Amino acid sequence: MRLQGVSVEAFAKINLGLAVTAARPDGYHDIETVFQSVSLSDTLALTPLESSSGVSLRVHGLSVPDGPDNLAWRAAEAAVAEFGCPGVSIDLTKRIPVAAGLGGGSADAAAVLVGADALFAIGAPRETLLDVAAALGSDVPFMLSGGTALGTGRGESLERLPALSGVWFVLVTPRFAVSAGDAYRMARIGLTEALSFTRVNCLAVREGDIPTLAKGLRNDLEAGVLSAYPEVARVKETLIAEGALAAVMSGSGPTVVGLVKDEPAGQSMLTRLAGRGWDIHVVAPIDVGQRVTPIENEPVG
Ligand code: ATP
Repeated sequence: MRLQGVSVEAFAKINLGLAVTAARPDGYHDIETVFQSVSLSDTLALTPLESSSGVSLRVHGLSVPDGPDNLAWRAAEAAVAEFGCPGVSIDLTKRIPVAAGLGGGSADAAAVLVGADALFAIGAPRETLLDVAAALGSDVPFMLSGGTALGTGRGESLERLPALSGVWFVLVTPRFAVSAGDAYRMARIGLTEALSFTRVNCLAVREGDIPTLAKGLRNDLEAGVLSAYPEVARVKETLIAEGALAAVMSGSGPTVVGLVKDEPAGQSMLTRLAGRGWDIHVVAPIDVGQRVTPIENEPVG
């Protein structure tokens, strides 16, 4: 039997609080954040490129580059270089809003690494996957394992936390992009209580204490983005007015995450928020970064 391809479901992430603790000499920032995978995904179908060690990419759905600027493409090149595997053909169905603070590009990159590892039965050591992931982007190491984790450093130092349950999320994305670079330039850095609020979030996640988690949610990138983009402030106010337990911007925005108690509460909020020109997704926490399934097996010979 021969594996023809793999289909990888690549889950988006949200940030349940984000503290910017310091500017680093390398131009990046040190952060503390609780990453959470959610049930909104892109799908990547990976098949071997028999005749070459190159990469081929087709994109369906939302618009993203279909060449070497795509993180999925770069991840495939890294897989070929690091694993010595054949080239990969990728069919990417893009559903995660782009440049929205949901880590879509990073999710796709991690999906290609994990997918290529499965497709070619490479069995790459975890450390190798993590090193390759970190070179592709700060959020890519988290996306390999997904679930719930405390991220420190640039976000690449990870400590797994217990799976979160008893809460759903309404993701509201205004239809414009915010560049992560701009969001960090506008950030208020090194707030004195930054460390304590992520610690409160972590403790609340460990204890499954949703009310305390909701109360402690803050994002140091939020104030700058809210004042530069008043529409994001309107999204946040609307989520609170409509009964969200809390509302906080994810990553560098502009997506704002509203916490709700269950799926019906999320669907009812979606109905009330429809027609305002925002993209809305009702999602659950997920305890993995991606799901890989074989596309097809066919007998050899
Ligand atoms: P982060 O929170 O990690 O900054 P994000 O969700 O805000 O991520 P992405 O959706 O990953 O942002 O997109 C950021 C930029 O990367 C966009 O300008 C986009 O064109 C580019 N990009 C490259 N490859 C991809 C991809 N596979 N999916 C989405 N964006 C991609």
